[in-house]
Parts: sequence; C-alpha cells; structure tokens
Amino acid sequence: MSSSSSQQEVEPDEELDSALVTARRQLERAATHVDVDDGVIERLKHPTRVEQVSVPLEREDGSVEVFTGYRAQHDDVRGPYKGGLRYHPEVNADECIGLSMWMTWKCAVMDLPFGGGKGGIAVDPKSLSDEETERLTRRFAEELRYVIGPTRDVPAPDMGTDAQTMAWFMDAYSMQQGETIPGVVTGKPPVIGGSYGREEAPGRSTAIAAREAVDYYGHDLEDTTVAVQGFGSVGANAARLLEDWGATVVAVSDVNGAIYDPNGLDVSSIPTHDEEPEAVLEQNAPETLSNEEILELDVDVLIPAAVGNVITADNAEHVAAEIVVEGANGPTTFAADTILEERDVPVIPDILANAGGVTVSYFEWLQDINRRQWSLERVNEELEEHMLDAWDDVRQEVDEKELTWRDAAYVVALSRIAEAKATRGLWP
Ligand code: NAD
Repeated sequence: MSSSSSQQEVEPDEELDSALVTARRQLERAATHVDVDDGVIERLKHPTRVEQVSVPLEREDGSVEVFTGYRAQHDDVRGPYKGGLRYHPEVNADECIGLSMWMTWKCAVMDLPFGGGKGGIAVDPKSLSDEETERLTRRFAEELRYVIGPTRDVPAPDMGTDAQTMAWFMDAYSMQQGETIPGVVTGKPPVIGGSYGREEAPGRSTAIAAREAVDYYGHDLEDTTVAVQGFGSVGANAARLLEDWGATVVAVSDVNGAIYDPNGLDVSSIPTHDEEPEAVLEQNAPETLSNEEILELDVDVLIPAAVGNVITADNAEHVAAEIVVEGANGPTTFAADTILEERDVPVIPDILANAGGVTVSYFEWLQDINRRQWSLERVNEELEEHMLDAWDDVRQEVDEKELTWRDAAYVVALSRIAEAKATRGLWP
C-alpha cells in the first residue's frame, strides 16, 4: 500500500472543493515533492489568458438573448491548449481556469504534447432547441476564432456538448477560415474526422487503471469485486470492460440509486445513461441501494464515475473498498483524500484514470493533421500503450518516493512541465 510517511491534520470540507481551489492546492502540494524553481510554480498559478466573449442568439420567437462564453488557456509550454467546452448555467471564469489547470496536469501526466484549456457558455442547454444550439455554437466558434486553432487551442466536448456540437463548431471555424480544418476540435463524429473509440476511451482508461491497480496490489481480476457509481459513458464502459476481463461487477448506480447483487450483475444488459437514461433501478437485482450506500460497499474496487465531490470528509471513513479508481473528475474532496491516505486506501487519481478521453483526442488530432483515419483496433492498442507508459511513470514515483498515487501523478506532470519551462526559458 502506498502512503506518505507524514501524518496530516484532517480538516472537514468547509465547502465542497471548487475546481480552482482544488487545482491550486494540487499545484502547491506537488511543488513540495519536486525540485522546481519558484518562478515556474508562480507562473503556473496563473492562466496565460482568459477570453470572455458575448454570444448573441436569436431565439425561436425572434427575440435576442446574449450569453457569456469563456475560454481559459492555462499553459502551452508543451503544446496547444486542449480541453472541453461546456454548456451549463454555472459556467464562469474561475471554474474554467481551475479546469484548464487540471487539463494541463492531465495532458502532462499522459505525456501528450498539449497544455490545458477549458471553456464554455453559461447557458442551460436543455432550454435551447437544436437550431438554437447550432446558432449559439456557430457564433461562439466565431467569437473564439482568434484564440483557437489546431496549433493553438483545440476544444472538445464536455458537459452539455457532444459530437454534433463539435461538428457545428468545426464547420463554422472552417467556413470562416476558407478551408476544412478538422483538427480545430476533437470529439467529432468519425465521418468528419472524429476518431473511432473516442467516446468509450475515458471508461476504457479507467478500466485499465483499475486492472493495473488490482495487479499492483497482488490480486487477481478474476477474484475482484467492483462497484461503479454512475452508469454513464465513463462508468458503463469501465464496468463492461472489467466484466469482460473477468472481474465481478456487483453494484452500479445512476442518479436515482444503485442495484446490488453480491454474485455479480450482468452489466452488458443494463442500458447506459446514453442508451436509456436512468434505467438502472428498473433492472432485476436482489437489492437496491442509495448512492451514498454504494460508496460504502465492501468491494475490492470502487469506481466513482458520476459527478465530483462524492467522497467527502463525512463518508471517507466508511469507504470499505480496498482501492478507489476515480472515473469522474474530482470525486474525492481534499479532506477525504487525506482520510483515505491515512487509512491506506489507495486512490488512483482522475488525471490518470480517466485520461483516455484526452489521449484519444490526441489521436484524433493526429489523424486530422495527417488526413488518415485509424482503425478502432489501432486506437485501442495505442491507448493501452499510452496508459501503461503513464501508469509505469506514476508507479515509479509511488515506489521510489512513497507517494500517494495522486501526488505521484502530479509529480510526473509537474516535472515534465517545469523541465519544458526551464529549457525554453522566460522571454524576454
Ligand atoms: P454521463 O452523463 O454519461 O453519465 C453520468 C451518470 O451519472 C449517469 O448514469 C447519471 O444518472 C449518474 N449521475 C448523475 N448525477 C449523479 C449523482 N448526483 N449521483 C449519482 N449518480 C449520478 O457522464 P459521463 O460522461 O460518464 O461523465 C461522468 C464523469 O466523468 C464526470 O465527472 C465527467 O466530468 C467525467 N469525465 C467524462 C469524460 C467523457 O469524455 N465522457 C472524460 C473524462 C471525465
């Protein structure tokens, strides 16, 4: 089991961690484990640029509404900014900055030639017709045109946006530039330059991380029980792959609650959130549980794959799993992380576990630039290879420095970024 030797004081979550608070804390914490120039850390605390734009939209009734859009670009020392665009009422500049910092670490730990970006529009996507979403997206692409591009900043889908949104975004950008430029965004449908395997990639990488963790701690996947909170894109793909590889998935949940069968569920027959939203409780199973109870189940591997901030100071003592693998972004609060560390429960962090999404986005970008599509087999093979390399880099830090998996992942990421900054220098 990995653990840091120092005992830390555990504070309750004063409020659930915001993305920016978490990102800054993680940077400061990683900085204590790496010999990095203070100037580099200081530079990394700030985003390079935060673009705020007004996005006017003609509504179906002919009225005009103006929405606010953002694009935060954190750091591009290793390559173009990369990260999602979300449509959600609570999108704001600070959230975009925090999430863009997160993307910087995620790209670096996977050794992808990208830095972190994140953006979006403060809008409830459910309040928009398809036509309104298309018009809003096209105008947003135009407003951001001067700060994005395949060699500058490459957006992707996120909450409230999808492959179709990326198709409109790419079309609007290309029309204005006068040529088809598929590499301006990733997560597109394969027919216009999207990559096969992109959609299931975060779930696949989460499953690979779980498999490697089980092996690292000396267990056999065939004897491993798994609980997955959130049966959406990430959770369902991870659960199905782990089942294929021999694990027993005993519990899964959606927003309404969980089903539990100690002998194992047939997860391939349970519809995912995409196939049929909120259908988990309609399946036959011996027991139902709440979303709080699934987190406390006595299983070998717990995969929180729904939303952030679900493992908190209130329930971290009751997490009975031997290993936690973060499928969602930020499911464990800082305070909970400290408790799990003291209890010697390893947590495989989100920036490693669910990084399959951005990794296959990188493959998509390569395919777009080279105008050559890869087969699904090639995508999955290369993803496996990238994940194993990243796993090995992080594992080495865990073994050599006796760090937690999260600290080790940040150390790998920060070392790469700092080295690139030191080598390029500060101009002027
Ligand atoms: P999704 O919408 O496909 O599925 C989410 C699932 O979680 C659904 O089953 C939903 O019913 C359930 N859920 C929602 N709120 C819940 C709650 N409060 N408690 C319990 N269950 C709840 O979402 P997704 O794409 O699978 O994303 C899940 C998480 O993974 C998010 O944190 C997301 O940021 C992260 N993530 C997604 C991707 C991606 O490309 N899809 C990549 C990296 C990380």
